[in-house]
Parts: sequence; C-alpha cells; structure tokens
Amino acid sequence: MFRDTDELRMLKETVYRAAKERIGPLAAMIDEQGTFNRDVEALCWDLGLMTLSLPPEYGGLERDTGTALCIAVEEIAKFCASSAVLLIIQAVGSFPIVHGASAEIRNDILSRIRDRRELVAYLVTEPTAGSDVAALKTSAVRDGNEYILSGAKCFATNGGVASLYSVLARTSKGKGGRGLSFFLVERDSNGLSIGRTENKLGMRGSNTTEVFLDEVRVPARNLLGVEGEGFVIAMKDFDMSRPAVAAQALGIAQGAFDEMVRYASERRSFGKPIAEHQLIQAIIADSATLIEASRGLVYRAAALYDQGKSNTKLASMAKCFAGDAAMKIATDAVQVLGGYGYMKDFKVERMFRDAKLTQIFEGTNQIQRLVIAREILKETGAS
Ligand SMILES: Cc1cc2nc3c(=O)[nH]c(=O)nc-3n(C[C@H](O)[C@H](O)[C@H](O)COP(=O)(O)OP(=O)(O)OC[C@H]3O[C@@H](n4cnc5c(N)ncnc54)[C@H](O)[C@@H]3O)c2cc1C
Repeated sequence: MFRDTDELRMLKETVYRAAKERIGPLAAMIDEQGTFNRDVEALCWDLGLMTLSLPPEYGGLERDTGTALCIAVEEIAKFCASSAVLLIIQAVGSFPIVHGASAEIRNDILSRIRDRRELVAYLVTEPTAGSDVAALKTSAVRDGNEYILSGAKCFATNGGVASLYSVLARTSKGKGGRGLSFFLVERDSNGLSIGRTENKLGMRGSNTTEVFLDEVRVPARNLLGVEGEGFVIAMKDFDMSRPAVAAQALGIAQGAFDEMVRYASERRSFGKPIAEHQLIQAIIADSATLIEASRGLVYRAAALYDQGKSNTKLASMAKCFAGDAAMKIATDAVQVLGGYGYMKDFKVERMFRDAKLTQIFEGTNQIQRLVIAREILKETGAS
C-alpha cells in the first residue's frame, strides 16, 4: 500500500468516486465507438489529474507525484482503462520537457499545459524500431539556429489530439542510443502531419496514430536536454511510467475481479451459487493473491521513485507482474462468467481486451524481464 497521507487518501477517494459515477457509465460507449472522449478529458483536467506529475507551480503535488499518478490511474482503470491512458501519456510526454527543457521553454510550455489544457504526446516508436529504441531512424539535423526533423512515428498515443510532442530523434549517426535527442515539436509546425488512426483490439477510447515529420524545422532551443541525452531521458521516464502502467493493469485486474466475485455469488449451478464450487474459489483466491502482490509492487516502485531512489528493477517487476496478472485475471473473469463473459454486455469482455496492452506498451513484458535480469546482474557484479 502507499504512504498513508490525507492528501493521497483524499485523491484516491475523489478519483474513485468520479471514475465510478462519471467515467464508468461511459466506458462501454467509449469502447464501442473507439473514439477519444472529450468529456472524460475535461473531467480529468477539472480534477487536476492531467498535471499531477508536473512541478507544483504548474499543478503538480509537492511530493509523492509518482504515487499520486499510480493512485489516479488505478482508480480510473477499475472502470475504464482507456481513460486511464490519458493520465499516463500526459505524464510520459511531459517528462522530457520537465527534465530537459531550458528554463524559458519549460516555463512557457508548462504554463500552457496548465492554463490552456494542452495535451502532450510522446513520439518514440517507429515502424521498424519499438523495443529496440536505439535503432530509431528519425533524424534531427542542425541548421543554424534550427534543427530539421524528418521521419515517421507510429503508435503515438494522443498523436491526433495533442498540440505538443516530445519527439526522440537521431542527432548523430553510428552512435546507437548515445546519438539520440529529444525535441519539443508543436502540432502546427510546417511538415508535421497525422497519419492513420489505429483501429485497436482494446483501449479503444485512447487515440493512437501515426505522426509524420517531413523536414519539420524547430528552433534549436527546443532541444530537450543536451544532444545525445535522449536515450537516458527516455529510460528515466520509464522509471516513472512503468509503475503507472502497472497501476493501470492493477486497476483492470481489480475491476475484473470485482465483477467475477459479484457474478459468482449470484449465478447458480447444480443447486448453489457457483462461488461455492471449489474450482471457482481457487480462481477467486489466486486472483486476489495476484492483485495484492501487484499492489505491493506498484506502490513500492512508485515510492522509490518519489524518494529519488533507483527503482528501475522494481518498476519493471511491477509492470511485468501486474500486466501478466491483469491478463490472467481478466481471462479468468471471462471464464467465471461463462458464455455471458464472452458477450459485450458484460464488462469483463472489454477488460480482457484492454488488459493485453499492459503487457505490450511502455516496453513489452519480455523487455521488462531483460531489464530485471540486467539490474540483478549489475547488483551482483556479474555484468
Ligand atoms: C496502443 C499502443 C499505444 C502505444 N503508445 C505509444 C506512445 O504513445 N509512444 C510511443 O513511442 N510508443 C507507443 N507504443 C509503442 C509500444 O511501446 C511498442 O509497441 C512496444 O515497445 C513494442 O515495440 P514493437 O511493437 O515494435 O514490437 P517489437 O519490438 O518488434 O517486438 C516484437 C516482439 O518481439 C519481442 N522482442 C523484441 N526484442 C526482444 C528481445 N531482445 N528479447 C526478447 N523478446 C524481444 C517483443 O517482446 C515482442 O513480443 C504504443 C503501442 C501500442 C500498441
């Protein structure tokens, strides 16, 4: 569990109530339509959730920002996982600006985010570079006081609705990850265009698009951090975002579990509620155990982040464990509901589809396992 403060407890209660009463009732429609919902976005801004991870003067908390993000994401994901993506990607996209922008750009852009409610997307993945970030090809070439960016980005969450983009591009050839740098790019830049909006299996209310950069000129001051620092910023961003994706998985798992238990208590077979059959009880027990273990990992990883301590291993453990747990629990929830679980009239069908993404984005769960092993081998001095 997270550190018990009035502020965090109040945040949890407020977000839970708003998610249950105002987002949950829209979840099936959002999924069916597969479109970004502006009412949910407005609600998240009104509640201060879109600026949670920013410095306090721009709407963030004084402390516990990583934990607060996880709490808000978990509570929303219990009812609508697509809507929870909104918070995650706003935090992920803002990170290179918060941690890399010059004082002037930082103040200008973060004030705009706070005051004009601007969305930030995070453009790293390319058609031929996903897990292997260091293989990305988008180029950024210095030309006087400007950089010229060219390339194609894909799977950009909020790509079609954001006005600001944190873009990772190659500033030096032949240097792998050390040749990458982040840039702030504005939506209305000449040469920037939005491609296809993806038609997805799950998280259908989250906007996912291609974004093309065709000789987009940005002022040199839009470089976030120093040249070559992009990969390091991306990795630090993961330390914040992976616990948040784990929290999203946890929320899905809890939502599916709640449905499973409710249904098992009501549905009868062979003369008794199915919850009284021991094989169903085993599913309930295993699911509850996985949820408790996920919650422990999520909030431990977030707490380390908030304390400024290294959390790379725990963040990957949380993301990997909670993602796998959510997929298992959502699958089992469909099973417990039998034929009804396979129907769109029941929430677990959507949760089952939504859960899958938590094993894929912000680094697949195979990549998380590699990170965990690498960190352990570093700790033991074996590599
Ligand atoms: C809905 C959605 C939203 C997304 N949002 C964003 C976003 O906002 N911004 C962004 O930049 N990206 C985003 N992504 C991209 C996401 O992070 C990548 O899809 C993910 O990192 C995997 O990359 P890939 O799809 O290229 O798969 P690949 O890297 O091609 O991997 C394919 C398979 O091979 C496995 N694999 C690869 N390398 C190894 C290895 N070394 N060892 C073992 N197995 C390996 C992977 O685990 C996977 O199972 C999003 C993706 C989706 C689906």
